[in-house]
Amino acid sequence: MVYQLQEVSVNYSKEAALKNVSCTIESGKWISIIGQSGAGKSTFVKVLKGLVPNMQGDYLINDQPVNRNAKGQMMVIPEIGFVFQYPEHQLFETTVYKELAFAPKHLGLSSQQIDEAIHVILPQVGLSADILPLPPFQLSGGQKRRIAIASVLMMNPKLLIVDEPTAGLDPASRVAMLQLLQKWQQQDDRTIIFVSHQMEDVAEYSDEVIVLHEGHFMGHFDTSTLFLENSQMLNEIGLTLPEPVQLLKLVEELSGRKIEVVSCREKDIFASIMPIWNTRVSKNG
Ligand code: ADP
Repeated sequence: MVYQLQEVSVNYSKEAALKNVSCTIESGKWISIIGQSGAGKSTFVKVLKGLVPNMQGDYLINDQPVNRNAKGQMMVIPEIGFVFQYPEHQLFETTVYKELAFAPKHLGLSSQQIDEAIHVILPQVGLSADILPLPPFQLSGGQKRRIAIASVLMMNPKLLIVDEPTAGLDPASRVAMLQLLQKWQQQDDRTIIFVSHQMEDVAEYSDEVIVLHEGHFMGHFDTSTLFLENSQMLNEIGLTLPEPVQLLKLVEELSGRKIEVVSCREKDIFASIMPIWNTRVSKNG
């Protein structure tokens, strides 16, 4: 699948939230959207889902313009999954089972199909069937969020948009959430569009990163290329480098040499800097 925005602009008010954005997203990847608050990240992902009826420009999926209504307005694309920020606030059914069954039931799936899908999806979000009869409000914050994500996965999307999915989670739940999303994405040519402020998470999990600034498209990068070779641009638009990359730069400065790294992921950076650091410590010791 190929998703293509061509010269897309969005004007909510006088100041445009997106300004002439063109970009192409290919499936089978984890793609992060970064930018300061107000940069246009949420608007960008809403456009992808077809949630901005009055956007200007074109949106093609596999070279076909997406459906518009008779007034020429963009229509919601049901095949794309969208997990809003704090999605657990939208849980409303009396049991987890009913919550997961809600959308597929309205699409006309049979009870048996729904039951089978629930038992496929639950382990994908790291939950067991024991939870199904419980009221969602009795669950922990992390569990509620997993249920909210599971209810979107019930619709079997190929592309899943997640807007700050780790916001407000404790560190262990955060890592668990990222890992379950990664596991889901790495099958069947699936795609994740991940909006995040956490540069460490972006560096660790993304294949590619789209950078927005004040509604402008600043580029679409391979993740390591972005964080290892474009620090000046990130700095200029007020974004910090992920901590492992900051450490790499510090060790480069202290050792007075450029350190080759395989990627911007923490384990690759540590594998490259530890021998240099150890040599330095043993010399100075
Ligand atoms: P981000 O997700 O990067 O914080 P947004 O896409 O939410 O950025 O917002 C981009 C700009 O559009 C901001 O200036 C914001 O105030 C404005 N904006 C977003 N949504 C609306 C809306 N529904 N009505 C009016 N202005 C909006």
